Amino acid sequence: MKITSLKAVYPNYRHVAPSWRTHLWQIVVRVESDSAAVGFGYGGGGKASVEVVNGHMRDLLVGRDLDDASDIFSAWDALYRESIPYGRRGIGVMALSGIDLALWDLLAKAERVPVHALIGPRSKRRIRSYATGVDAEWYAEMGFTANKFPHRATGSPSDFETAEQSAARAREVMGADALLMIDTYMSWDSDTTVEMARRLAPCDIYWFEDVLTPDDLEGQAALRPQVKPTLIAGGEHEFTHVGFAEAARAGAMDLWQPDITWCGGITAGLRILDIARESRIPVAPHRGGEVWGLHLIAASDCMDFAEVLPGLRGAPRDDLWIGEPFPERGYIEPSDEPGFGVTLNEDLL
Ligand SMILES: [Mg+2]
Repeated sequence: MKITSLKAVYPNYRHVAPSWRTHLWQIVVRVESDSAAVGFGYGGGGKASVEVVNGHMRDLLVGRDLDDASDIFSAWDALYRESIPYGRRGIGVMALSGIDLALWDLLAKAERVPVHALIGPRSKRRIRSYATGVDAEWYAEMGFTANKFPHRATGSPSDFETAEQSAARAREVMGADALLMIDTYMSWDSDTTVEMARRLAPCDIYWFEDVLTPDDLEGQAALRPQVKPTLIAGGEHEFTHVGFAEAARAGAMDLWQPDITWCGGITAGLRILDIARESRIPVAPHRGGEVWGLHLIAASDCMDFAEVLPGLRGAPRDDLWIGEPFPERGYIEPSDEPGFGVTLNEDLL
């Protein structure tokens, strides 16, 4: 088939503050072809990224052939190359991610198979999921056996106490066997991280996420032996196989978390997995419980561990994608419907 049109839109999210960068800056990408199938993807970068798709990448993609997965790889390479002056990382690649996912969706729908079947043989059926957020009681009630909670350091000595309290509470609510992780969103520094590892040792934290900024690869590498057995995790702000190859060379992290809707889509995800396999680094995609990461997890050697963001009990949500799977008793699986198995809620456009 031939690609006939490409369009990105920034949804009218209702339950978020009105800003170009809210709701994780997610955009919707729609791709049409001369077949009946229409592909939808989810990218990052907000309104700026919409401009990149509609103002530049569309002209490069329309008219290209799409007959098998290798055509997606060549389209990816062409768009990446043409966007090098402003891309490589950040918004250019977040835009490319949305296009890439729309192409995987389109090809799978044209072949009437789920995306995971295009990626490869199913390596996992039910995938263990973990709940990110602060409502541990609710997550435990729903059957989750793993919880990642946030901790933002403020630079005050009370940071250690607030982390200890949150960890002790999560351990009590989730139970002795649960996996607990902490996301610091780049708010700790090296000294804080080492001291946290010492103080939180009784709480048995599985990983510390994004303790430093992604630019400080050496700093993260130096922390790994100092916080063992807790892992240094990160990668949601890293992009493409090029970025992860650098992280591998620096030995920066014990565990990688590429965001499939930001790092370059499934195409980049597969290339990142090639590097991870060589370097023996486990990969657990950021927001891996959303269909974009979930199909990759189900048909690759990603970890058997998918992130879900249930939010708070009873809080209103924007359901942009209809048909998204939700974990049952802590396990989630992608559907076998064609493509990613979700439809767009047009009310939010
Ligand atoms: Mg994070």
